[in-house]
Amino acid sequence: MAKPADTRTAGRKSAPKATRSAAETEKIRAALAARRDELRAEYDRTLSEITELQRDRLTDSAGDDQADTGTKTFEREQEISLANSILERITQVERALERLDEGGYGWCERCGNPIPVERLAAFPSATLCVTCKQLAERR
Ligand SMILES: [Zn+2]
Repeated sequence: MAKPADTRTAGRKSAPKATRSAAETEKIRAALAARRDELRAEYDRTLSEITELQRDRLTDSAGDDQADTGTKTFEREQEISLANSILERITQVERALERLDEGGYGWCERCGNPIPVERLAAFPSATLCVTCKQLAERR
C-alpha cells in the first residue's frame, strides 16, 4: 500500500511538477460551475430585492424629511454595491473556468503545488495554497 506521499517520487522521472488528473480537473470544474450558479441565483435575488425595496421606498416617501431621504439613498447604495460585489465574484469564477480550460488554474503561484479542490471551490480566486498563504500573511 503506497501512501499518498510516496506516489510523488514513484518512478516519474520526467514530471517537472505535480500533475492533476482529469478527474480532479472535472471536480474543480463542477465545483466552480456550482459556485457560479449559486452566485447567479444570489445576484438575481439581490436585484429583485433592490427593485422591491426601491418600490417600497418610493410609495412610502410621502412624509419623508431630508434625513429619511438620505438614509434611503444610503441603503440603496449599499444594496447596489452588494449586487456589484456578487457580480465581481461571478466574473472571478468565470475567469477561473477559462483558466482551468487552459490548464493554468489551481496551481500555487509560489510553490507550484496543486491547490486543493475544496479551497478552490470556497475561494475561486485563490492563487496560493494554504501553506504559502499562511506564510505570506505572517510577513
Ligand atoms: Zn504553495
